[in-house]
Amino acid sequence: MSHLLVGLTGGIGSGKTQVSDLFAALGVSVIDADILARELVAPGMPALKAIRQKFGDAVLDNNGELNRRQLRERVFSDPEQKAWLDNLLHPLIRHELIKQAREAPSEYAILAVPLLVENQLNKLTDRTLVIDVEPQRQLERVVSRDRVSEQQVRNIISHQASREDRLAVADDVIDNNGEISQLAPQVQKLHEKYLKLAKINLKA
Ligand code: ATP
Repeated sequence: MSHLLVGLTGGIGSGKTQVSDLFAALGVSVIDADILARELVAPGMPALKAIRQKFGDAVLDNNGELNRRQLRERVFSDPEQKAWLDNLLHPLIRHELIKQAREAPSEYAILAVPLLVENQLNKLTDRTLVIDVEPQRQLERVVSRDRVSEQQVRNIISHQASREDRLAVADDVIDNNGEISQLAPQVQKLHEKYLKLAKINLKA
């Protein structure tokens, strides 16, 4: 059972996957909110049944899987339906995140949540670790990774928390403006710090 929960967040393309992989390589349990959210709406899950009842078969693919894009489009311009969906999924995600984090075998666990700040999930964690990157670098990395236009990325960034808002709630920050090789030493340092903090929590 883990004794410390660290919320890891950052804007699109900030390096969350890179950093999560480094923590995982050190033997730390990483719980990924995106994966978990997808599992909750897999075929056969109660949440998918509720979504189908509300939105009809149009939001399902031929194989019965949720067509996330369709659903996003349906709720994008309709705040009431968006609120309904959030009310259904957010408590489920929250519950599952906490459960998996508690059950994690490592001394501390990382909760990787892209919208940690936006959805106030930082209230569930002991600490918030923000991966910080300058907007211009962030833009360039996402454009080259996803082969999308700068405008599309700007649009996504504008719907996320600002760099300042994120940094304002950070307990720890990883600077990802440099080379990828500069991430591992920062992760190692934080790992040692989190192990110490987990020990203190264990005794408390
Ligand atoms: P998303 O929010 O879209 O899930 P993410 O925060 O997980 O993204 P990554 O996928 O880890 O971000 O990184 C975004 C892209 O930038 C990837 O292609 C990654 O290889 C690259 N990248 C990350 N860090 C660096 C760096 N320091 N230098 C160069 N490229 C980097």
